[in-house]
Amino acid sequence: MNAEIKGWCPGALRPMAAHDGLVVRVRTPMSRLSSQQAKTIADLSTQYGNGLLDLSARGNLQMRGVSEDNHPLLIDALRELGLIDASIDIEARRNIVLPPFWQEGDTTEQIARELIKELSKQDGPAISGKFGFAIDCGPVPLIRTISADIRIEQSEAGLICRADGSDQGRLVTKENAAKAAIELAHWFIATGGVVKNRGRMAAHIKDHALPAHYLESPAQEASAPAPKPGQTKEGFLVGATFGQVTAETFASLAELAPIRITPWRMLMLEGCSTEPVLNEETGLITKGDDPRLQLVACTGAPACLQAHGDTRKLALSLCHDLPQGSILHISGCSKGCAQPKQPADFTLIAQDKNRYALIRNGTVFDAPAAENLTKDELTTTPQTHLVRA
Ligand code: SF4
Repeated sequence: MNAEIKGWCPGALRPMAAHDGLVVRVRTPMSRLSSQQAKTIADLSTQYGNGLLDLSARGNLQMRGVSEDNHPLLIDALRELGLIDASIDIEARRNIVLPPFWQEGDTTEQIARELIKELSKQDGPAISGKFGFAIDCGPVPLIRTISADIRIEQSEAGLICRADGSDQGRLVTKENAAKAAIELAHWFIATGGVVKNRGRMAAHIKDHALPAHYLESPAQEASAPAPKPGQTKEGFLVGATFGQVTAETFASLAELAPIRITPWRMLMLEGCSTEPVLNEETGLITKGDDPRLQLVACTGAPACLQAHGDTRKLALSLCHDLPQGSILHISGCSKGCAQPKQPADFTLIAQDKNRYALIRNGTVFDAPAAENLTKDELTTTPQTHLVRA
């Protein structure tokens, strides 16, 4: 069940080859698209790609199925929308995740814009494309579970900039927070954090002591859970089943409002104060108790060439049988692309077209509790298998 693991994240200028063509990841500044930008992206996805858009786990948008020939044309069109960086290096390091609830002029917006400016300088820190920054300045941290290496968040004593993996940070102000984050990124590089274009902060600080001034104030212990689809005061949150929407659906959402891309595989319709009327076939989720929110599944067979079996169809057929609040992750192979690190209550890994290994309360890398479970066994007696450990 071995799979090929690539050590970098795709961007727009450096896309990744997949079974269905190039994956072009657009790092939307501030995770926001105006209605016009979003409509144009939908058109471009149909014109140059296969009309499918993925929402990434860090709040980016991926266009799929782009051919090598179409890639330069797509980049030109995205550049006209203001969504392309000046170089591959800048694109790779401008990896910023933020909750979608920021308002113009607030602390999150101010720091994020400053950080974008710093990371866009030609001499910005040479971190890898997986290394990222989380700007999470609400009263309680909201994106702690989202992958990032340097976090700016509120502590009891005020705003701090901290290394991921450390429970202490440096006290900063909204004026100097971005610079402190850049300084910490340079420390990471100077102390050997980047090896062969890889390296993450939490692993690095296990054997490299942080500078003392990044250990001056404790981080908050509390953090808030991810929100659910529904109304918020900043807009309406709409979930996307398996984090994917069609270009047509994306265009219809863009008609309603500007779109903010969240790190929870949801889209926020900015300023929208009523529940949008959506066709069931769009796969969009507007209710917080929808059982499809309990599902995580990669593309699987037949679309992914590395997949040993189907993922999404099986997941949909099991979602009504899951214990309340549990998460089911189905992976087409042992790579676990859809959720490599975070444990799920149940993880099924396709072993072949009809058989699955089951891991309880773990990830694809943990030992299975059962193997060779057939689709039939899983769907006819789910209560025997999908029982919490
Ligand atoms: S985890 Fe899924 S998407 Fe990733 S390589 Fe395996 S089958 Fe393909």
